[in-house]
Amino acid sequence: MAATVAASSSQLRERRNPNYARACTLLYTGTTISQLERDIGSDQFPPNEHYFGLVNFGNTCYSNSVLQALYFCRPFREKVLEYKARNKRTKETLLTCLADLFYSIATQKKKVGSIAPKKFIARLRKEKEEFDNYMQQDAHEFLNFLINHINEIILAERTQSKPTGGKCGAGDAAGSPPEPTWVHEIFQGILTSETRCLNCETVSSKDEDFFDLQVDVDQNTSITHCLRCFSNTETLCSDNKFKCDHCSSYQEAQKRMRVKKLPMILALHLKRFKYVEQYNRHIKVSHRVVFPLELRLFNTSDDAVNPDRLYDLVAVVIHCGSGPNRGHYISIVKSHGFWLLFDDDMVDKIDASTIEDFYGLTSDIQKSSETGYILFYQSRDCS
Ligand SMILES: [Zn+2]
Repeated sequence: MAATVAASSSQLRERRNPNYARACTLLYTGTTISQLERDIGSDQFPPNEHYFGLVNFGNTCYSNSVLQALYFCRPFREKVLEYKARNKRTKETLLTCLADLFYSIATQKKKVGSIAPKKFIARLRKEKEEFDNYMQQDAHEFLNFLINHINEIILAERTQSKPTGGKCGAGDAAGSPPEPTWVHEIFQGILTSETRCLNCETVSSKDEDFFDLQVDVDQNTSITHCLRCFSNTETLCSDNKFKCDHCSSYQEAQKRMRVKKLPMILALHLKRFKYVEQYNRHIKVSHRVVFPLELRLFNTSDDAVNPDRLYDLVAVVIHCGSGPNRGHYISIVKSHGFWLLFDDDMVDKIDASTIEDFYGLTSDIQKSSETGYILFYQSRDCS
């Protein structure tokens, strides 16, 4: 919400489009018994799972939606809880706050309810100036910050615990990369850009790490199509020529991106906020992009480490509204074969068939919409 005060649950429910409200059997508000809570008692639901909404502290839905998605990325949750168990109270960091929050959810007596991520939000606001206000933020920017920041915390703690400054720290003097952290092991993939000099035909390649892939969206397409476009060949010419080592000069070249190493959890960011010069601002692109429950990537390089990884959709952060600074974020997650919708402090079960409500709109790019914004795919070989 663009307003500077926290909207109550009932206000949010009034404001939002009925599209996904319809998807919920009954919304859990902390005061009523929902269908979910009734189902929890049945043997359909696992005994050790907790479904807790997160209280909104004034436009903190960008954080709530991402935290829920990450909580239901099982390898991530397990590592955060392991960290909590291993690290007896040291200095407070964003990671200790996250670990405390996850631990608190995982150890609640009740199976369903809501919890206030107060300490985490307070720490986040101290940690990064951009988040130290009551404005709506970009959920992807938050995810990106969180993952990188947690990784830096782990690397820094490793260096502190090994004062000799060996290879396990933040890399040795020769500049070799540090030993992977569990954040690397979960989210990091490698992209390789292959460049073919059009003069000598020499192909050179350069690798770069990623924690998520950012893909452009086109109207009436699928995520598979968006990923194909991501790997389309681009010609480097005129001002953008390529310096060919073989020719020892700038030459026209063809460049394409391939995935060399697929991560355990593939986070896909759909670039739905685009700057439009004509309006001098970012607009939301609500294009309909179908995302499958099961995904296999094909744009892998010839020397890919694991080209056949098969992924299952486990969580989606959804943007509801008409623009980047307006609107609301919610998330849907898969847990033990069920789909649930988290809307700040509310949680409810949804039918898998309603996921298609979040693909986007087939027309009118500026209309308010509820669209998949960040997709989390988990590799089947790690579940
Ligand atoms: Zn050349």
